Amino acid sequence: MLENDTLSSVLYIDLSKNEFWIEKKPELFEKHLGGTGVAIQLLHENCPKGCNAFAPENPIIFAVGPLTGLFPLASKTVAMFKSPHTGNLGESHCGGRSAIAIRMAGYGVIVIKGSSATPIYLSIQDKKVFFRDASTLWGMENCFTVGRIIRENEPGSGLRTIMRIGGAGEKLVSYACVTTETYRHFGRLGLGAVFGSKKLKAVVISGKRSLPVRDMNQYRKLYDDIYQSAVTSSVMKKYHDLGTAENVLPLNELGGLPTRNLETAKFESASKLSGEVFAEQYLGRRLACSHCPVGCIHIAALREPYGDEPYFYKTSMISYDYEPIYALGSMLGISDAEGFLKLMEQVEIRGLDVMSTGVVLAWATEAQKRGIISEKETMGINLRWGNYNAYMEAVRCIIEQPNEFYKALAHGVEQAASQYGGADFALSFGGNEMPGYHTGPGAHLGVLIGSRHSHLDNAGYSIDQKILLTKQISSEELAKMLLDEERWRQILSSLVICFFARSIFAPDIVSKALQVVGFDFQPEDLHKIGEEIHREKYKFKIREGFSLDTLHAPKRIFETPSPVSNFDEKFILDAIAYVKKELLLE
Ligand code: SF4
Repeated sequence: MLENDTLSSVLYIDLSKNEFWIEKKPELFEKHLGGTGVAIQLLHENCPKGCNAFAPENPIIFAVGPLTGLFPLASKTVAMFKSPHTGNLGESHCGGRSAIAIRMAGYGVIVIKGSSATPIYLSIQDKKVFFRDASTLWGMENCFTVGRIIRENEPGSGLRTIMRIGGAGEKLVSYACVTTETYRHFGRLGLGAVFGSKKLKAVVISGKRSLPVRDMNQYRKLYDDIYQSAVTSSVMKKYHDLGTAENVLPLNELGGLPTRNLETAKFESASKLSGEVFAEQYLGRRLACSHCPVGCIHIAALREPYGDEPYFYKTSMISYDYEPIYALGSMLGISDAEGFLKLMEQVEIRGLDVMSTGVVLAWATEAQKRGIISEKETMGINLRWGNYNAYMEAVRCIIEQPNEFYKALAHGVEQAASQYGGADFALSFGGNEMPGYHTGPGAHLGVLIGSRHSHLDNAGYSIDQKILLTKQISSEELAKMLLDEERWRQILSSLVICFFARSIFAPDIVSKALQVVGFDFQPEDLHKIGEEIHREKYKFKIREGFSLDTLHAPKRIFETPSPVSNFDEKFILDAIAYVKKELLLE
C-alpha cells in the first residue's frame, strides 16, 4: 500500500476507561485488503472465545477499504461483532456517509471495546475522540430524533456520519439495528443491541483529507470508466428508477414472494404494493450513499391529516425497498400501501431490523391462528393477517417486553418457537430470519450456508431464477456455485463495494483499481484471498459453537410450492455435507 495512506491506522476506543489510541497496521491491509478481510482478523484477535455478546469484551469493529473515497460505489462500511442474535458471527454492511467519514477521519478501522457505566456517545473528529454524556438521549426511542439532536451539537456537517440506535437497541432486542443518515442501516444480526449493551447511543465521525494515488493519469482514466459503467448500466438504472421494489411484481408472478408466513408464495394483492405503485403515488425523494452516482434509496412521502384543524397535514418521509415490502407487506398479508408505510415507520424509528421483525410477527400470527398462543400471551392484541394497527402495537410490545411471550419475540423466531412450539413454520435459517425469496433451493440453501445467513452472502435467489428454472443441477453443483459466489463477495466486501455494483467491479477491474492505490494483486490472487477470508469467517462461527451438523431448514419451505420445486430435505442435507467437505471441516 502507499506509504502516506492513513488507511493502515486502526483507532482503538475503550469505553470502560474512556481511552483511545491509534496503531499503524499496514500488514493487515496488505494481506487482507480491508473491510471484511481485515475485520475478521481483528474479531479473532479482540473477541475472547465464548464471550457473551453483551459482555464488554465483545468488540465492535468498523472497517472500510483502500478504494473508499477514491472510486464510486466503494461506499459501504463493514461492522463485525459477535452476534447476540445467532451467537456467532455478526457482520453487517451499511452505506450512507459512514465509509467516507471513517476514511476521511484518517482510519481504515475503528475498534470499540469495553462498556460505559453511563449512557454515552462518541464524537470522532480526525485524530480526536470525545466521550460525550448521552444521559438525555438515553430513553429516546426514535433514532431519527437522536440524529437530529446530535447534528445540532457536532461539527462536520455534510461530511459526517451519525450512527445511532433507537429504543430496540437500548432494550437489547437481539435483532436491533444501527441507523445512519440517509435511511441506511447496519440492519442484520443485532449490532444495535451490542451498542445498547455498551450504553453506546451513537457514534459520530467526521474528517477531511486528500487521499494518495500511485498514478494520477491511470486513476482518472479508470475512475471515468467505472463512473460511466455505473451511470449507463441498465441494472443501475433499474435501481435508480424504482429501486429494489421493482422486484415485487416479477417475483410474485414467478410464485416466489413469501406471503402470510410462507403459507403461499403468491400474494393476491402484490399489485397494491409494487415498486410502480410506490413510485407513482408516494415517492418523495431519492437519495444516494456518499460517492454513489446511482441513488437507489427511495423515500415515500406519507401525508396524513394532523389534529382537528382543516388543511393541517403531517408529512412523514419513510424509506421502502423490496425487503421491507416483503417482510411487513406480503409476509403479514398487508395490502394497504399506507398501512404498510405506517408500520414501516414504527419499525424504522425504533431501530429494529425490518426483515426479522416481519418474520417474527408472521410466525406469531400463525401461532395465534393455530391456537399455539392466545390473547393471554399477546396481551389482548389480535394478530390477524393484514391488521397493521395490531402489528404496530405488537412492535411496541416487542421493544418493551412486558411479558415472557414478547421477551421471546424480542430474541427472534427460533427462540419463540423453542418456547411455544411451531418450529415447522418458524422461518429461521441458522438463527436468522428468512429474506424475501422463495424461489427454490438456491435461495434457501444460500441463506442456510451463508456465513451471515443473509441473502446477500451468495445471492442464491438469483441462481434459482437464472439457472434452475431451465436446468436441473445436483446438490453438489449448487453448493459449489454458492460457495464460489460467496468467496468472490469477500473481495467485494473487503473493498466495501456495494453489491449492487458487482457486475461493474469484475476481477480485472478490481485488480486495476487496487494498482492505483498501491496494491498489486492479479485476479487469481484475489480469488485465493476471498477463499481465505471466507474460511476465517467460518472458523469464527465454529469457534463460537456453530455447526453445519445441526443446521436444518424449516419444514415450511418444502411444503409451499416454489418456482423450482424439485428439492427436498435430502437435497439440502447433501449440499451441506459438500460444504463441510469443501471447508475442510470434517
Ligand atoms: S447503489 Fe444504493 S445502496 Fe449502493 S451505494 Fe448506491 S445508493 Fe448506496
